[in-house]
Amino acid sequence: MNKTKIIATITDAYTKEKLIAIAQAGVNIVRLNFSHAKHPTTKPLIDLIHQLNKQGTTNLGILLDTKWPEVRTGERDQPYLYQRDEQFRIFTDQTKMTEHSDMFCDYAYLLEDMKVWDTIAIESGLMNVVVQEVHSDFLLVKSENTCEIGSRRHMNFPGISLRLPGLTEKDKADLIFWLENGIDYVAASFIRNQHNLEEIRTFLTESIQTVKTFEATTPTFPQIIAKIENQEGISNLEEIVKSADGIMIARGDLGIETPINQLPYYQKYILDVCFKYGRTCIMATELLKSMTNSPFPTRAEVSDVYNSVIARVDAVMLSDETAIGKFPIETVKLMKETVEEAEKHTINKHKDFDIQREDEASLGKKLLVKHALFLADELKAKCVIVFTHTGSLAKMVAGFKPNQNVFAFTPYPEIINLMRILFGIQGMKMKQRADHTTENQEIALQMLLEQGLVSSGDKIVIIADKKRGEKTDPLIRVTIVE
Ligand code: PGA
Ligand code: MN
Repeated sequence: MNKTKIIATITDAYTKEKLIAIAQAGVNIVRLNFSHAKHPTTKPLIDLIHQLNKQGTTNLGILLDTKWPEVRTGERDQPYLYQRDEQFRIFTDQTKMTEHSDMFCDYAYLLEDMKVWDTIAIESGLMNVVVQEVHSDFLLVKSENTCEIGSRRHMNFPGISLRLPGLTEKDKADLIFWLENGIDYVAASFIRNQHNLEEIRTFLTESIQTVKTFEATTPTFPQIIAKIENQEGISNLEEIVKSADGIMIARGDLGIETPINQLPYYQKYILDVCFKYGRTCIMATELLKSMTNSPFPTRAEVSDVYNSVIARVDAVMLSDETAIGKFPIETVKLMKETVEEAEKHTINKHKDFDIQREDEASLGKKLLVKHALFLADELKAKCVIVFTHTGSLAKMVAGFKPNQNVFAFTPYPEIINLMRILFGIQGMKMKQRADHTTENQEIALQMLLEQGLVSSGDKIVIIADKKRGEKTDPLIRVTIVE
């Protein structure tokens, strides 16, 4: 069982068979891309995932990836081939455009925010233009390279702080659609500060009161993953990490918005801040990019997956490889094999993940978990069991990067869904409240035994927290399977 989780981007073109095949190849969470996904075609896919999960055919979490604050060029009847050193104009008002080379940009403040010598990266960094002159109606720019540009291409503004709007009405309608249909995680693009996250959280909190959430037995709240994609996100990283549930190292855009040679440094920096606050961290984009078209990866890509695992991310993510790639199943299989190989050679030192906790209750939880994991290592325990109602104890265990598989028992299916992304954690559903009574401990052990997850003679460490307002003590227990 791999401890580092695998996320795969899928589209509504996925059939039932393909979905089952990638799940069986090792995917833990599927990502749906908001800018392309349409409600009527996505709903049957989501229903199918829920149905397959219920039957026990798959065990997939669902991550919705939002796209709201992005800037694009305009529609074109035909693509235009810009030449190196060509000068052309960029407008924010389409009615003023006269030449075929004129380009539209949907960022309203473009002319106010850009100055001479600023760079704009178009088509995900394939074309760079430098601002030559700022006019009242347009920017005069010069292309640094030859590139063909079609309709609605991505525009990035490295180092520029854009005045992008918050949630639009469409975003809100989309989020409500997803709440109604059941999602586990929302990944928010281009998060620049904690206010961007607060806006999403406030909207979700308000909506969840009125929307009938998908089959929820407890009010379930999607985990919010902040995507770090530009310089502003890096500059405000600490406040973002503190207010997000998890972070995505969105290397695709980050590698355009910041100098590409600094990307490895930022990866490491983001990961370190996630360790400090015990936050889930996803390594994203181009991990096995060449497998989009080829059945075999490059050596560098396999090393990238391996190195992401030994750097201790919680999850590795596939984008085009599984969304539009020719070899999605092969890619997932290879990713899983590489993850497993890397985990075989990695021993986590829990002291390296000294999660910051100020209040006494969570400090107690932190010490309990940390020392239980030291104990599990020294005793060479086969696995760890935790009892959790909200998933917070499981989150703490994941933050200390266990060396054993951790089975987290909870009565709530929604909490099992939320725990799918956590490093090393496998959710287990139990019928009754997951208090750590002796009876429940025996039920949990019996379940693991019946499912062949432990066998006679295995040492197991059990961790359970004190329940708020109750007299039970926190607990660490070592037991040997009979
Ligand atoms: P995207 O985000 O695939 O939604 O653009 C990830 C990235 O930028 O790396
Ligand atoms: Mn991106």
